[in-house]
Amino acid sequence: VKRSKRTGQTEVYRPHLFDIVRSQFSIETQLRHALEARQLHLAFQPICDLSNGRISSFEALARWRTAEGENISPVDFIPVAEESGLIVPLGRWAMDEAARTLSDWDRMAGGDCGARMAVNLSAVQLQRDNVEAMFAEVLAQHQLSGHRFTIELTESAFVVDPDRTLRTMLALKEMGAQIAMDDFGTGYSNLAYLQKLPIDKLKIDRSFITGMLADRDKVAIVRAILSLAQALGLRTTAEGIETQELEHTLVALGCAFGQGYFYSRPIDADAAYALLLARNA
Ligand code: C2E
Ligand code: MG
Ligand code: MG
Ligand code: MG
Repeated sequence: VKRSKRTGQTEVYRPHLFDIVRSQFSIETQLRHALEARQLHLAFQPICDLSNGRISSFEALARWRTAEGENISPVDFIPVAEESGLIVPLGRWAMDEAARTLSDWDRMAGGDCGARMAVNLSAVQLQRDNVEAMFAEVLAQHQLSGHRFTIELTESAFVVDPDRTLRTMLALKEMGAQIAMDDFGTGYSNLAYLQKLPIDKLKIDRSFITGMLADRDKVAIVRAILSLAQALGLRTTAEGIETQELEHTLVALGCAFGQGYFYSRPIDADAAYALLLARNA
């Protein structure tokens, strides 16, 4: 990260990405290839119950390591996948891979491993794919109950086609899944949807958590989100908890769940299972 002399703006230089992001076409072609060549994998990050420190779920996060050994962030490739329509096969792959991993953990545990799996679902996929059929297929394939899953949606899902989103959400909930509103506070400002939609959980966006100990405005926003959630009977997860101090503050404010580097970075499936055994023993 460098500060530009000319504009004073912060600019991020990622020379190793230059060749790839030079054109949309290029990254799209490479992503298409990556999906087929199995260059994508999932990393898993625990979400902890702040009342007892136990891991309640893992969020599955897509990772792309190119044949040249470069790691490309989902922040860079998910938008390309959304624009190109590749998000549909990518999202299907992620759901299937997350379910496969959960059923592996169950097998190793000799029963329900005790954690649920949280999977991100793009608003674009909600519009273009038959998500309920896809989810039902994945559950049948891996012999899992829908209760083992949380589906993370962002507020953008309610902007384009709220009726369709509602129908899909109801179908997913019918199968047992919970619905979490991801990155809450950064998107749609019309809060009426919170009343109309079957949401179980709000994930307070990391931007409000990072630096909140030195920022009274952020504390005020987090406090307001927590009281809104409480009034509506929604559970809450704070994203981006990196320190014990932040955890203490969020517990004191009444937040129920936490996620962040303080607990663990996103890690591979074997490490995640070992962490689950160690923390929930
Ligand atoms: P998200 O769903 O909000 O996921 C949380 C992001 O915050 C992850 O970034 C995670 O690594 C990061 N994070 C967690 N704790 C901390 C912390 O303490 N400090 C900091 N600085 N960061 C933390 P990641 O893995 O880079 O993913 C970025 C976004 O890409 C995700 O944000 C999600 O919107 C999207 N994404 C990732 N995988 C998928 C996927 O399979 N499907 C879809 N549709 N989107 C995905
Ligand atoms: Mg998420
Ligand atoms: Mg999030
Ligand atoms: Mg986020």
